[in-house]
Amino acid sequence: MSVIDKLRQTVCGLHAELVRYGLVAWTAGNISGRVPDEELFVIKPSGVSYDELTPDSIVVCDLEGDLVAGDLAPSSDTAAHAYIYRHMPHVGGVVHTHSTYASAWAARGEAIPCVLTAMADEFGGEIPVGPFALIGGDDIGKGVVETLTGHRSPAVLMRNHGVFTIGASPKAAVKAAVMCEDVARTVHVARQLGEPLPIARDDIDSLYDRYQNVYGQRSAR
Ligand SMILES: [Zn+2]
Repeated sequence: MSVIDKLRQTVCGLHAELVRYGLVAWTAGNISGRVPDEELFVIKPSGVSYDELTPDSIVVCDLEGDLVAGDLAPSSDTAAHAYIYRHMPHVGGVVHTHSTYASAWAARGEAIPCVLTAMADEFGGEIPVGPFALIGGDDIGKGVVETLTGHRSPAVLMRNHGVFTIGASPKAAVKAAVMCEDVARTVHVARQLGEPLPIARDDIDSLYDRYQNVYGQRSAR
């Protein structure tokens, strides 16, 4: 199997995780993955239901977002994914969802404060808010790149819209999307009965460092 076909299979399978974790409704949401050593990425086709996605239906685009291979039109968010790959060479996977709790923070234009050790682990601080941007051109991608450049968080809440996450691989970006929704929900619930307590910067730093460098099985990282 070619590298591209293998990536199509991986990215197709990861879309099921968005459903499993309740991050998507109808056909909203999408995952892409960069083809290693090529100016290409694979992405979900536009408007196809999650049940009907097959590896063959995942399309291949160049880094301008133009279709290179596949029978279907690429996701309407393709320009944003392409912009991110063009400007962030370390990114190997991108996820976009309108997951409920994270999007509620985005609707208020409010960053999620770092008040849980799990947030310090995964995001190294708050989950920031990106600008309002209309779909189609480079504005969304630009907002994602500008907000996440120099930031530890692999997730950004695009104002009035939803979540974009990045990762070294498509799987890492999916994990960030799942964790983003998880902490968005918990901090939202905490807010209902009072003001969540902040974590000291030094403690956030050591939690982040331990989780990123020491936690887990060495081979699985
Ligand atoms: Zn969207």
